[in-house]
Amino acid sequence: MNVLTVEELREMMICVCDRVAAEERRLCELDSFVGDGDHGVTAARGFRAVKKVLESKRYQSMEELLDEAAETLSETMGGAIGPIFGS
Ligand SMILES: [Mg+2]
Repeated sequence: MNVLTVEELREMMICVCDRVAAEERRLCELDSFVGDGDHGVTAARGFRAVKKVLESKRYQSMEELLDEAAETLSETMGGAIGPIFGS
């Protein structure tokens, strides 16, 4: 039975970070239909920060990795969306 390792989770999360950052403009365009059009900027800022954190060290557990990712999103995205993504 294969089990996801902490390193595999870290690599997956970094891919998510890259994908969100790559879609910054598109997320802003979508947000502009119903909001102020800055969601892409906010999301990209948060996920770029998470990538930087995840690349800076190795984690002993998935809980530690996800806690740090969540805390980073909450701190860097701000507003209402930070705690939502952090959760
Ligand atoms: Mg906004």
